[in-house]
Amino acid sequence: MNNDIERILYSQSDLDGRMDEMAADLNVKYRNEEPIIIPVLNGAMIFASDMIKRLDFKLIIDPIKASSYVGSQSTGKVKIMQDIKSDVKGRPVIFMEDIIDTGRTLQALSEVMKDRGAKRVEVVAMLDKPNTRVVDFHADYYGFKAPDGFLVGYGLDYNGLYRNLPYVGILKHEVYAN
Ligand code: 5GP
Ligand code: MG
Repeated sequence: MNNDIERILYSQSDLDGRMDEMAADLNVKYRNEEPIIIPVLNGAMIFASDMIKRLDFKLIIDPIKASSYVGSQSTGKVKIMQDIKSDVKGRPVIFMEDIIDTGRTLQALSEVMKDRGAKRVEVVAMLDKPNTRVVDFHADYYGFKAPDGFLVGYGLDYNGLYRNLPYVGILKHEVYAN
């Protein structure tokens, strides 16, 4: 285990198990559709690539880069830094996200795609933190309900670090203090 990690919350095999289950549901639901899958960069890149490999329907991958965080505190603003290239009009859209916290990011991004005429917008999240929600938003699929506190690994970063950890863990307190 990485020295800066206090405790592992979700191991690779925990995540694999839930990704298999979510993929099984999605493979039934989207069997006859051709959705646009939108990974929310950078955090969702690891989860999304693992999820997408499990999907067997026709799909397009078109990432978006959005940001609402500076350091470990939410700024409350959502900014699209890099937009998708596809026309979503009349097509189902599936966002893939690392974690839903306040809900602002995915609520805002979902509204953008609905305004552009998406046929349906669904959200698949690796983790859901229900206690810290500030807007009324629910992921259609999520891997685990996560506890409060700042998590890293499997795409989740602290100032750009720890995304490569093959598990989700809690950062040691002393790491923030430095
Ligand atoms: P929301 O708009 O739902 O508050 O924020 C979602 C984004 O905040 C996530 O995509 C993620 O980048 C970031 N975030 C929320 N909670 C955590 C956390 O515990 N750890 C990390 N590394 N990022 C988080
Ligand atoms: Mg993110």
